Amino acid sequence: MKVLIVGSGGREHALAWKCAQSAKVSEVLVAPGNGGTATEPRVRNVDVAAEDIAGLVKLATSERVGLTLIGPEAPLVMGVVDAFQAAGLRCFGPVKAAAQLEGSKAFTKEFLKRHGIPTAAYATFTRDTFDAGWVRKQRTPIVVKASGLAAGKGVVIVEDAEEAIATAQAMFGGQFGSAGDQVVIEEFLPGEEASFIVMVDGKNIVTMATSQDHKRLKDADAGPNTGGMGAYSPAPVVTRALHERIMREVIEPTVRGLAKDGTPYTGFLYAGIMVHPDGTPNVLEYNCRFGDPETQPIMMRLKSDLVELCEAALDRRLDRMQADWDERAALGVVLAAEGYPETVRKGDAILGLDAAAKRSLDGRGKVFHAATRAEGGRILTNGGRVLCAVGLGISVSQAQRQAYDLVDEISWKGMQCRRDIGFRAVAREKNP
Ligand code: AMP
Repeated sequence: MKVLIVGSGGREHALAWKCAQSAKVSEVLVAPGNGGTATEPRVRNVDVAAEDIAGLVKLATSERVGLTLIGPEAPLVMGVVDAFQAAGLRCFGPVKAAAQLEGSKAFTKEFLKRHGIPTAAYATFTRDTFDAGWVRKQRTPIVVKASGLAAGKGVVIVEDAEEAIATAQAMFGGQFGSAGDQVVIEEFLPGEEASFIVMVDGKNIVTMATSQDHKRLKDADAGPNTGGMGAYSPAPVVTRALHERIMREVIEPTVRGLAKDGTPYTGFLYAGIMVHPDGTPNVLEYNCRFGDPETQPIMMRLKSDLVELCEAALDRRLDRMQADWDERAALGVVLAAEGYPETVRKGDAILGLDAAAKRSLDGRGKVFHAATRAEGGRILTNGGRVLCAVGLGISVSQAQRQAYDLVDEISWKGMQCRRDIGFRAVAREKNP
């Protein structure tokens, strides 16, 4: 069977690499892919953009693709799964109506509130209903969010009400295009964040391994927010007791609620959780796809056949499936181009990939590509987050060491990365 992966980042390289290992798979196509998927065995890039829905349907039809996995959120929110279904093609992901869980924060907040799922107190405004007086009565800091997709930039934490008002006005004024037509303003929640990712078949749930990512650019979680500078799995913050609570109080009522509302959810479902110091798991956001960079360490630990799991989900038999995990920890460090997360320089030659590959032998690690392209036998940078070096080890500390051994082989002009990915878990391992 042929599998199609849609997208071009590190997440998609990891999904393609994992699917290519399945005994059921003859070839993995990636649309449009990157320099890493271009050179991965049994994987082929196809030049169709991730948001070209008609082009993707045409590709899957002409190549007789048996299963398609969608990496990024934009095509899901645009309705790529609906289009594949209409063409009689199997595509693992939520339909457009269910993908609103990521496409509209206003929708999600209303949904969470209606179903009694813990989340920050909030109000939703449009330009016409905006109430600066309400904002001035709220406690600070406070969080202002553009409701629609804003490439991870639509959330601003501000220290005082006047700044919150100015931020909301800028969003109404078109700072994020139509994503800011509605603005959610919500209570600031203290605590530690965790990513909780599951597979859903409309009703049944298979949990993925726990993980935690680092959104800030600089060490010690300083600097601006990014798409993610690294992630590791498992995340010790998610204890067995917390795992059960998240399932019972967040994931199960969400899946039940969506089915009850007539929009059953199939696909990867990613809950961004803020664990309050009192232990309450509050939903910060939902994503309707796998996380990037969480996918990279999680796929390194997945022992089960991902293609079988996705097929079972499409056949609504996830109740008979489970995912098996490598006992070891995995930790991924993102290597970014100079200037990221603002304007970056592209086209620099990346050195040391062969040496890093040698150090990755025997399954000790893997360098996944994100914004790279292959040209004349060289791999060039092609965007902000360029690579993700993943190490495996018997503890997060060991996985961290292995990942940085890979990082230290690699260089290009202006390369930047954090040196402390996993620091919370490493501290917990030192002082359990
Ligand atoms: P979101 O895209 O909604 O997950 O927001 C992006 C990031 O902003 C999250 O990963 C958190 O670090 C932070 N954030 C969002 N909402 C809140 C909140 N209510 N309280 C504290 N931090 C938040």
